[in-house]
Amino acid sequence: MEAKRVILLRYGEIFLKGKNRNLFEKRLIENIKKSLTGIDYKFIRTQNRYYIEDFDECAMQDIIDRVTKVFGLHSLSIALKVPTDYDALKETVVSLSPSEGSFRITTKRADKTLDKNSMQISAMLGGYLLSQKSNLSVDLYFPKSEIFVDIRENGYSYVFSDKILCAQGMPVGTAGRGMLLLSGGFDSPVAGYRMARRGMQIMGVHYHSYPHTSEMARQKVVDIAGKLTKYCGDIKLFVVKFTDIQQAIHTYCREDYMITIMRRIMVEIAEKLALDNKCGALITGESLAQVASQTTKSITVTNDAVKYLPVFRPLIGMDKYEIMDTAEKIDTYSISELPYEDCCTVFLPKNPVIKPDLEIAIKEQAKIKDLDKMIEDAIKNVEIMEINQEF
Ligand code: ATP
Ligand code: MG
Repeated sequence: MEAKRVILLRYGEIFLKGKNRNLFEKRLIENIKKSLTGIDYKFIRTQNRYYIEDFDECAMQDIIDRVTKVFGLHSLSIALKVPTDYDALKETVVSLSPSEGSFRITTKRADKTLDKNSMQISAMLGGYLLSQKSNLSVDLYFPKSEIFVDIRENGYSYVFSDKILCAQGMPVGTAGRGMLLLSGGFDSPVAGYRMARRGMQIMGVHYHSYPHTSEMARQKVVDIAGKLTKYCGDIKLFVVKFTDIQQAIHTYCREDYMITIMRRIMVEIAEKLALDNKCGALITGESLAQVASQTTKSITVTNDAVKYLPVFRPLIGMDKYEIMDTAEKIDTYSISELPYEDCCTVFLPKNPVIKPDLEIAIKEQAKIKDLDKMIEDAIKNVEIMEINQEF
């Protein structure tokens, strides 16, 4: 009997209603194919599923690792593809069945030319399985294992038992673009991951204070962005030299307001870059009360420096442990934990204000000489890096 292993992909069907369906699917298929760059395979699209076929068996695990990171896919199964023939189906069902416990067989029949309906086919295959393995029993309601038989119109059937959960969410690129303020810490990469999961294409902006921060600190962010590309696709990273501005804040502003003002300028620059690059939102890794600059008051004062765009803070209600778990999962943890200085930690005030006052912040910021020019220069001299999708 000819049975070959294929991978069956399912997408989140609830998003597939109405006129967005085409856009959604087109993008999802593009993203799947992009994620499989360098692998030989055949991609088959049917009414509500995709199949990856004709690949080298050795590539199977690699394919699974990659497609489980593509947002918009709900789950996958490794299926056996066999010609639709009752004897072949019987044999395949036996080969996929456990040796003991309860089971059920669930058949879906798109091929209406067969002489049996789906219930009758399930009953026939179940009966045969029982005759072959005496330690099995049928349980239609709470089976220990379930075998699915998908009979397609093209003369082939797909038989599978396990489902592997994929990344879910929405395909990257279906919800516009977001400019992620990306530091070398644990939080901001997770924030980018979460917004990409809602379909946002991610761009990144990083501020560094070379030579106060090292080349290693900057490389750390590039490496983190690289890890994120596995989920987000290619990322354009804007690297902004923040040294002069940080120095000026230090020179002109009240010490306890330094961080507050630094944040305000960061988001102002980020918004300008975002607007220039057709982003519809800023994204930060802020989490309420995690540090002094993340109180409601602090966030209010920072937010005031953003004029047009919404600021998405997907981690705002998450615990540090939950954030760390996600960082582990997306493999940014081990890079984030490297000790290199972030620009925020240079010139760190001893006692940063916890509940900053907006008027004071504005007044202090206004003391910085030629700030507009410095911001303009920082943007003019921004270094743009294309971080290509890693596989
Ligand atoms: P993270 O772990 O993301 O660094 P954090 O807990 O250290 O966050 P803060 O340092 O207060 O928090 O930064 C809050 C947010 O500001 C970060 O999540 C990030 O979005 C942004 N941010 C901080 N530093 C930088 C930087 N050097 N470049 C770009 N964005 C930054
Ligand atoms: Mg930080």
